Amino acid sequence: MPERSEPTMKDERKNSPRAPVCPATMTPGRSARVVAALAAHYGRPEPALEYGNPYQLAVAVVLSAQTTDRQVNSVTPRLFERYPDFASLAAAQSGDIEKIIRSVGFFHTKARNIRELARRVAELYNGTLPSAREELMELPGVGRKSANVILAMGFGIPAFAVDTHVLRVSNRIGYARSESPDAVESCLTAVIPPEDWIAGHLLFISHGRAICRARGPLCDRCPVSALCDFAGDIPQTRSSPRDR
Ligand code: SF4
Repeated sequence: MPERSEPTMKDERKNSPRAPVCPATMTPGRSARVVAALAAHYGRPEPALEYGNPYQLAVAVVLSAQTTDRQVNSVTPRLFERYPDFASLAAAQSGDIEKIIRSVGFFHTKARNIRELARRVAELYNGTLPSAREELMELPGVGRKSANVILAMGFGIPAFAVDTHVLRVSNRIGYARSESPDAVESCLTAVIPPEDWIAGHLLFISHGRAICRARGPLCDRCPVSALCDFAGDIPQTRSSPRDR
């Protein structure tokens, strides 16, 4: 989540709060130019989370709440070596899981969530992760954003996950005027075709990390500055390590 000292969408918003959540000024044509410019700049970004199968992806996604992907990647190799599938994780001792994932933060809750997630998948789905959003969202620790990541990255099913980077970049460029991830997702998917949702999610994250940072967006070197509502309109401040 953005730090308190970061500029909020509200601070940055120069239009009336009563303006539409999905501005009509972001047309499919303008959006296509944004996505094309980001793709030309970033290429085809890979997910930052490291995983080898749907089981590992689901666990890594649950562990990634409120922490960095790098931090998750530092604990999952040991976790997956010790517990290679849903059945083995379901049978694990909570204390053993906690010892392995302690550094990711909220480790009590996350250990409980991934073990319960594993138990439900093992018992309800015979050890195979479901590929329906509704079923995924019934699993512990899996909200809509996490379900979208799993659908997109685990199954190749078009979904546009809205994390803190996507939320910020979407508001700045002009896709949305909302701090609600669900509302922003609706705005994005209304103008971006489904075949671009998975790549678009990764491109927006890359852009949010590299250039459109929470603090100190680098508008003068931005590949979409000519298409952005907020280009150059945000005070330049020092970025924090989490923005990178
Ligand atoms: S011009 Fe600035 S605010 Fe707009 S997308 Fe680029 S870095 Fe972000």
